[in-house]
Parts: sequence; C-alpha cells; structure tokens
Amino acid sequence: MKTHSIAVLPGDGIGPEVIAEAERALEAAGDRFGIDFTLRRFPVGAAGVAAAGDPFPEETRAAVARADAVLLGAVGDPALDQAPRHLRPESGLLALRAQLGVYANLRPVAVFPALVDRSPLKADRLEGVDVLIVRELTGGLYYGEPRGRDAGGAAAVNTLRYTAAEIKRVARVAFEAAQRRRGHVTSVDKANVLEVSQLWRETVARVGRDYPDVRLDHLYVDTAAMRLVADPRAFDVLLTENMFGDILSDEAAVLVGSLGLLPSASLGEGAGLFEPIHGSAPDIAGRDVANPIGAIATVALLLRHGLGLAEPAGAVERAISLALEQGARTRDIAESGAPALGTREMGERIAGLIAQERQSRASVAP
Ligand code: NAD
Repeated sequence: MKTHSIAVLPGDGIGPEVIAEAERALEAAGDRFGIDFTLRRFPVGAAGVAAAGDPFPEETRAAVARADAVLLGAVGDPALDQAPRHLRPESGLLALRAQLGVYANLRPVAVFPALVDRSPLKADRLEGVDVLIVRELTGGLYYGEPRGRDAGGAAAVNTLRYTAAEIKRVARVAFEAAQRRRGHVTSVDKANVLEVSQLWRETVARVGRDYPDVRLDHLYVDTAAMRLVADPRAFDVLLTENMFGDILSDEAAVLVGSLGLLPSASLGEGAGLFEPIHGSAPDIAGRDVANPIGAIATVALLLRHGLGLAEPAGAVERAISLALEQGARTRDIAESGAPALGTREMGERIAGLIAQERQSRASVAP
C-alpha cells in the first residue's frame, strides 16, 4: 500500500494541542478508508529556536523537502517579540512558505448552520455565506526588498513589489476555483492609489479573458472590507494580494464565530502547506481549551488538495458539521456559562464520527 508521507510541524502555543487532534482525525480517516499515512514531527518557530537555535531548523527544512504534504500548527511566542528578526518564529514561517513556493493561500469561509448564533452578525445576513479567499502568499510587502530600519531607528521602509507573472499564477488559481464553485471572482486592490494595484487589476483582467464562464469584478480594499460584513453573500471567490488577504481573511473569520474554526491550504508547484488560520494563542496555550476544529478542517484540505483524496476529505468535513449539530462546543463557541468540551474531547468526538462515516456518501468540495 502506498504511504503518504506528512511532515507535521506542531509549532508553538496551542499549535501542538490542536495538531494532536488533527493527527487523530487523519489517523481515523486512514483507518476508515484504508489509507496509510506516515506522520513525522519536526520543530518550527519558537520550538525550532529552542531545539536548534533556528526558527526553521535544517532538519525541518530537509523533512519538508521530502514530504508529500506539510501540516503546520501555528508559530509565535511573546518571549521572542524583541528577538532579532532571524530568530523570530514568524521568520521561520516565511522561510517555510518560501521554500515550498506556496504562492496561493486558500481560505474557505463557510458559516456552519449550527453556529449562526455565535456570529456577531445577524442570522439573516449569514445564511448561505460561502466565500473562498485566495490570497497571494509569497510576494508583496512581507517579502519585498529593501526593508528595514534606518541606522538611527527613526525611519523604516518596506517594499511592495509584484511582477505580472506572480499575479497571473495566483489569479489562475482563483479563476479555476470559481469554475468549480459559483463562477464569480472579486479581485481586491487599491488601484486608485497604488501602481502595484494598477498592475494587479490589469493583469487579473487579462487572465480573466481566458475564463469567459467566470464573472469578474474589482473592488477597492476599503470597500471590500465593508462589504464583507455588510453583505458577505455577495462574494464567491475573493482574490487579493498578500497583506490585504491577511487582513480580510481574519475579518471574514469573524463571520463564522471564532478564529479557531477555519482552515487554510497553501499551494504551489510541489507539496502544499496546510495550517489553521489562527496563531499560537499564547493567552490560552496549555489549558486544553483551544478549538481544534480549524486544525481538523485543515486535514480535510490536506486530503483533498494535498493528496487528491476527496472522499476522506468529505468524511472529515461531515464529521465536523455533525459534531456541531449534536451540540459539541469548545469554550470559544459555547454560550457563555454553558459547559464546554476541551480540545482533546472535541478531537475525540470528531474522530469517533469519522470512524462511523459511511463510505458511499458523496463528498462535498469547498
Ligand atoms: P491568535 O490567532 O493566536 O489569537 C487571537 C485570539 O483568538 C486570541 O484571543 C486567542 O485565544 C483566540 N484563538 C486563536 N485560536 C484559537 C482556537 N483554536 N481556539 C480558541 N481561541 C482561539 O492571534 P494573536 O494573538 O494576534 O497572535 C499570537 C501569536 O501567534 C503571535 O506571536 C503571532 O505572531 C502568531 N501568529 C501566528 C500565525 C501563524 O502561525 N500562521 C498566525 C497569526 C498569528
């Protein structure tokens, strides 16, 4: 039997806690569908600094290069906030993304019917919300050179640069996703102010001509930020650059009720990187209260987009929905004062439902 080799990078804070539940779900899916996974763990972020003095240690780098897919928890540790840039956990994450060349970050944001009351938005605005955010991940302001502080420290610079080739390849991912969904791409930029955004808009429009079955429109980022909360159903695929995507995807996460619920997939030419969208949440780390659903939903994306295994991916997603329909709640999504499950109990509940999945049911693509 072919074995799928997965490099597991639990990272920092709640990363190891939620990743343990993601592994449990993956193993349950493997048992249920007769698929063999080899899961090996490697340090990254502050855990990498502690183990090897490097947020992306050589051993981790080598393991990632060999893996079929990479499953990441989260990185970040307040104790390293003042450390030099090469020792910050986030530098490890940027280096990991750059090594894998994962230029397209996919963040599906769909409201769970069972959790409509957990959102700060009114229920009638949420019904049927199903947005796929496609964010450019390896260019733009987070990578542009020159960057840094002036010698005196009183001025600083970052560089926003995109090439047409970088814009084209991520735009294609968005248009192809739209073809499998509701056929609508909204491209978000700031073309009224930024030359980079003008290039972005022209290039996306040019790529769009190859997809006549997909409707394309453009929004300025400020308008998009408002519309995401005022009328989230207006979006099908939202395509944008790195920093705008970082901000808008966290805003979109609010619609669903908790950052702890959402997965992401980062895709390029080779192995993909799969991680929940939340950070290391040091405020709740080590207390068995983190919501593992974002990490478990990430396993579904890994199965579907990383390994081409749509059926087990659908089984994992159905198990999550079913657990929520049955009333399972971690603290972040429970009504105030109501009893809540711990991270591990929620993970066990979902893994149990994956084990009972009926193989014949059709899977649902994001
Ligand atoms: P965060 O996502 O870690 O936490 C924001 C809030 O959401 C916190 O109140 C936290 O308790 C809550 N939260 C997050 N995940 C949760 C979960 N699964 N269940 C329940 N509640 C959850 O963002 P932050 O506080 O801005 O950042 C903390 C650290 O994480 C920083 O060091 C930051 O740089 C890092 N970070 C890393 C990533 C990543 O690894 N991709 C992403 C974002 C932030």
